[in-house]
Amino acid sequence: MEETFTLNVCHLYGNLLNTYGDNGNLLVLNYFAKKNNIQFNTEIVSIHEPFQPEKYDFIFFGGGQDFEQLIVSKDIQTKKEALINYIENDGPFLAICGGYQLLGHYYMGANGEKIQGIGALDHYTESQVNNRFIGDVTIHNETFNETYTGFENHNGVTFIGPSEKPLGTVQTGFGNNGQDKTEGAIYKNTYCSYFHGPILAKNPHLAIRLLNVMLQHKYQQQAPTLSLD
Ligand code: GLN
Repeated sequence: MEETFTLNVCHLYGNLLNTYGDNGNLLVLNYFAKKNNIQFNTEIVSIHEPFQPEKYDFIFFGGGQDFEQLIVSKDIQTKKEALINYIENDGPFLAICGGYQLLGHYYMGANGEKIQGIGALDHYTESQVNNRFIGDVTIHNETFNETYTGFENHNGVTFIGPSEKPLGTVQTGFGNNGQDKTEGAIYKNTYCSYFHGPILAKNPHLAIRLLNVMLQHKYQQQAPTLSLD
């Protein structure tokens, strides 16, 4: 069958923030796209490179260590306005862990350094003293009635703002901060989570959900609806 749908993907700082194999998320999306005859093109946009929002139907932003996050936090200020426009225009986005933290106001690194975010989303991240949240985590999203599982490994404790909804309610594990039972964030078509694993490999129903968000946003009435079967 001929391919009639194409999704162009920006892998934001994919050469710097990919410590936990988060780019597996793009492999999973590519797998389901191909199965449905959808062309899935990805390119890395990194430091000193312009980010042109009109070129992309999806942005993926992975996690990493404080050292790389600090480098990215400086460069991302040059892309801040374009990224905020993309998000405000309902552009589909998935941000994991370090990427999630950088979309918010700031992240306090484990050594007390303040790592500036872009404030596109209304969360902020503090650090824990001599502790990391490490382990398996399960959450439930009531709106979608879906359960997601993953693995978390973070020092940061994130508090989401009033304009954000959590990706889910924590059933086991720590989630955003170990206190309020929230995990991740959803704002417009931007999805955030602390889950590695990668999240979409462990949760193919979320991968299909995101592909449908991308197709809807780009093709509107013409968009096909994908399902897991
Ligand atoms: N360096 C950040 C933290 O420890 C993010 C880690 C990650 O992306 N897994 O909180």
